[in-house]
Amino acid sequence: MTDQLVAERNWAGNYSYQATQLAHPASVEELQGLVAGAKKIRALGSRHSFNSIADTAGTLVVLDRLDPGISVDAANMTVTVSGGTRYGTLAAELQRQGFALHNLASLPHISVAGAVATATHGSGDANGNLATAVAGLELLTADGTILGVRRGDPDFDGMVVGLGALGIVTKLTLDIQPTFDVAQNVFENLSWDLVMENFDRITSSAYSVSLFTDWSGETVGQAWLKGRSNDPSPGRFFDGTAATEALHPLPGVSGINCTQQLGVAGPWSDRLAHFRMEFTPSQGDELQSEYLIPREHAVDALRTMRRLSSVVTPLLLVGEIRTVAADKLWLSPNYGRDGIGLHFTWRPDQPAVEAILPQLESELAPFSARPHWGKVFDAGAAAIAPLYPRFGDFIALAERLDPSGKFRNGFLDRTVFGS
Ligand SMILES: Cc1cc2nc3c(=O)[nH]c(=O)nc-3n(C[C@H](O)[C@H](O)[C@H](O)COP(=O)(O)OP(=O)(O)OC[C@H]3O[C@@H](n4cnc5c(N)ncnc54)[C@H](O)[C@@H]3O)c2cc1C
Repeated sequence: MTDQLVAERNWAGNYSYQATQLAHPASVEELQGLVAGAKKIRALGSRHSFNSIADTAGTLVVLDRLDPGISVDAANMTVTVSGGTRYGTLAAELQRQGFALHNLASLPHISVAGAVATATHGSGDANGNLATAVAGLELLTADGTILGVRRGDPDFDGMVVGLGALGIVTKLTLDIQPTFDVAQNVFENLSWDLVMENFDRITSSAYSVSLFTDWSGETVGQAWLKGRSNDPSPGRFFDGTAATEALHPLPGVSGINCTQQLGVAGPWSDRLAHFRMEFTPSQGDELQSEYLIPREHAVDALRTMRRLSSVVTPLLLVGEIRTVAADKLWLSPNYGRDGIGLHFTWRPDQPAVEAILPQLESELAPFSARPHWGKVFDAGAAAIAPLYPRFGDFIALAERLDPSGKFRNGFLDRTVFGS
């Protein structure tokens, strides 16, 4: 099924796709035909990126008509899914069968292939981003053939966080583990002084920890602790006060959109994301940026951000600080280094946000900050390339798998290929 694309937008509504057609193939064979015959083509996930990363001058394909095909291999502790499957759908089915993924992003609405392609992450000192769970994938390449690769194969580490530049991921195989329970506790108003002094203790105090702040004032607004049953019970949390009702990260917004809090233990699938599948995640009317910074610079980067409060706070709905474990995936912002994510949920004023990003990025540059591929950022290829030791290898891989540039777009030309 192919539609003319009329003013289709991304989730945030801040980007209109320029593609000329939107296709929803009903089978992998149909998709193969589309790819083989196209001059320009790319996959579109669930449209949750805030920039033009998914776009193409030709056809955008959405895998939503392919069967999710969720297939658990209990002997190898993996699950295989179709690329367009959303994490919410996968998580519910895994939980039903007694299994779990290691982590989720803040929202379950995103597609697995789209999230993996941009190295989307949740939080947790020991938790790699969602792409690190990929044990294998099937990649539909420019000539219409399918390449199956597994962890350990040559170039596998370059293919996982592929930015859609290498082909269309039709299937992914992800590591799973036995299901586990999570209890989520939220604390309010931790003093910045204590957070700075105890940053490592704070982020290691639960399986997944998020700090929410607008960078102004003397306190961090909220700390969200997602604990596995084997984490110590967080009765108190430094000088933070335990919330007595479900909270939303945004002050004054109802916590009804958010996953179960108040320490009530329950399945990982209903607690590891911040937002519930059946509601709009986050505010809905917003922009986002994020920078990944090596762990050793965490406290200095926090100091820098507090100093920049007069620049960022007026445009901010809320900021979030998370931790992510190092990995080996070439274009992952966590490549080779444990780190923190400094996330910004901005008011939906794109010109104003774009006006301050160069300053923000130059202040974070001494910390080798790598931008999140799916969010709003200013840096181009010249600034990004030196941050990634395997950047040249990725470009060579893309040129080998896609010699005619079928999957290239303006975003990749600006941020990767550098033309
Ligand atoms: C409210 C909200 C909350 C968010 N929270 C988080 C968070 O907690 N952590 C975080 O890290 N990010 C977060 N993000 C960002 C989001 O996770 C990423 O932008 C992610 O890439 C979106 O996935 P998608 O399925 O919407 O992909 P899209 O935005 O549609 O596409 C992203 C990229 O994936 C490629 N792609 C999609 N499908 C395929 C495929 N089958 N084969 C090959 N390439 C493909 C596209 O071509 C494109 O390059 C959030 C976004 C929103 C809107």
